[in-house]
Amino acid sequence: MKNVVITGGASGIGLAITRLFARNGHHVFFLDYNVATGIEVERELMESGHTVKFLEADVSSMESVAKAFASIPPTLDVLVNNAGISHIGNLENTAESDFERLFQVNVKGVFTCSQLALPKLKANKGGAIINMCSVAATIGLPDRFAYSMTKGAVMSMTLSMARDFVADNIRCNCISPGRVHTPFVDGFLAKNYPGQEKEMFAKLAATQPIGRMGTPEEIAGMVYYLASDQASFITGSNYNIDGGFMGLKM
Ligand code: NAD
Repeated sequence: MKNVVITGGASGIGLAITRLFARNGHHVFFLDYNVATGIEVERELMESGHTVKFLEADVSSMESVAKAFASIPPTLDVLVNNAGISHIGNLENTAESDFERLFQVNVKGVFTCSQLALPKLKANKGGAIINMCSVAATIGLPDRFAYSMTKGAVMSMTLSMARDFVADNIRCNCISPGRVHTPFVDGFLAKNYPGQEKEMFAKLAATQPIGRMGTPEEIAGMVYYLASDQASFITGSNYNIDGGFMGLKM
């Protein structure tokens, strides 16, 4: 059984990942800054007999993550850097504070958690890091200037970490989802398109050739595979899971 750390594990894609690893008997430590939901998810999974521990942490703070990591065993098999936030705006109308916050969570969050996980992965004589990227990293989604910037950085960090720690038997890969129906999407639509959520949801879903948004479980399955021994020859790769958005574009 593997020791697994998942960030942003209380909602959406992270929650599906937390559930999948827990239901398969792994020891799951999930970090989130949403304490109420974290405790609720922990209770639900523990009642079903799974080994899970919720740890409160803000991934943008090294101090906060270090406090959480103190409760994680000395050896770690898998780190999933999933926590992330979104933002709408282009170069002209992105506020400095929004740019900085996006960077702190989406980019620095991968740095803090990976740096603190590294000694535990090394103590384990190897393991896997899976970073949640986005198709935005490759194509720069319209009106997602700061968000695309952060996901570009996630992809670069994945490659850099994969290269630097390949000799330590640590594999690093990232996943680039297209649009996946999670609270992240619902919150985004409510905030930016109040009263037009339904139309905008359909519009976003229609941008994917498969004609719908993905489910969190469809992303979790790939995370699980990349963390497994079946993926032992895979490092430094990015996987688009996007209903054909990238592969079938004209
Ligand atoms: P979500 O909002 O449903 O879940 C994100 C989780 O991360 C929440 O539980 C939230 O509390 C937590 N979180 C956010 N900031 C945090 C912080 N500073 N410290 C600790 N926890 C924090 O979002 P989601 O849709 O499940 O997205 C998960 C990841 O997938 C993100 O990195 C996102 O960029 C990426 N992604 C999502 C989509 C999509 O369409 N949903 C597409 C591409 C990429």
